[in-house]
Amino acid sequence: MDQLFFDGMAICSMVGFLDFFLTFTCNPYWPEIQWSISALKLTAEDWPDIVTRDSKLNLEQLMSDLKDRKVLGNVLAYIYMIEFQKRGFPYAYILLFLDVASKYPSPADIDGVISVEMPDSIEQPQLYEYVKKHMMYGPCGHANRKLPCMKDGKCSRYFPKKRQAETVVDQEGYPIYRRCNDGKYIDNNDIALDNIYVIHKRSPAVERLYFHLPSDNSVIFEDGDDIDALLSKPTIKESMFTSWLQANNISQQAKDLTYLQFITIYIHQQNKMLEAT
Ligand SMILES: [Zn+2]
Repeated sequence: MDQLFFDGMAICSMVGFLDFFLTFTCNPYWPEIQWSISALKLTAEDWPDIVTRDSKLNLEQLMSDLKDRKVLGNVLAYIYMIEFQKRGFPYAYILLFLDVASKYPSPADIDGVISVEMPDSIEQPQLYEYVKKHMMYGPCGHANRKLPCMKDGKCSRYFPKKRQAETVVDQEGYPIYRRCNDGKYIDNNDIALDNIYVIHKRSPAVERLYFHLPSDNSVIFEDGDDIDALLSKPTIKESMFTSWLQANNISQQAKDLTYLQFITIYIHQQNKMLEAT
C-alpha cells in the first residue's frame, strides 16, 4: 500500500493537483446481474464472480469514456483503486488529472459538470428517478434520530447541508456547490427532502521501479516453460532495477536525474533503459 501511495504522489508531482474525484459503485440491480441470477432465485451476494466481472466491464467502460471519449476533458493521468464493501460489492475511487486546457476554474464551469440539485422531473425524468433513488440522504436529525449518522444529537455527515445561492470556490480552492431553494423536493415517507439533502461524493507512464537484492528479482514464466532453459538464460538476473543501475553506470545524464525525472526520459525495453525518442 505504501508503494501505491508513493506511485500516486509521483503522478501528482508530475502533473499537478487533481481535477476530479469520482466514485463508482456496483449496483446489484444492474440488468446484467439480475439477468444472470434471477432464474436461479439467488441474490447478487451469492455470486461474487458475476458481480465482480460485471463491475469490471462497467468500470472499464467508464474509464474508456473518461480517457478515450474525453467526456470531462483531456485526461493527463488517472489513479483508481477498488475496494470491496461489506456485502462484497466493488467500489472504485478514481482521481483524474486534466490538462491545462480542460480545467474547470470558474463556478459556471463547475456548474456545467457537477450538480448537487435535483433535476427537473419533466425535463430529465430518468435522471430525476436516479437522483431520487440513489442520491438523497436521510432524513436524519429531528426526523429520524435513530440513523447511525446521528452522534450527540447531530448528523456526523453534516446533513442537511446549508443552502447556497451560487457555486463558489473558497480560499483554498475547494468548491461549495449551489443548493438553491427552488421549490423541488422528494417526498420520503411524508418528509420533504429538497436540495440540501442531495448527496455529493466528492497517463503518463509512471512505471514502478521494483527494488530488490542481488538475485532476488522476479522471473515471469508460463506454465509450460522449461525451467532449466529459463534459468540458464544470460539475462535471467536482469530486471528494470538492474537496468536502471546500469544506465546510471554508463550515463552522466542518467546519474544527474532523480527517479521521477528519469522515467520521463528513459523507457525500459528489452532489459535496457533506452532514451525515449
Ligand atoms: Zn445524518
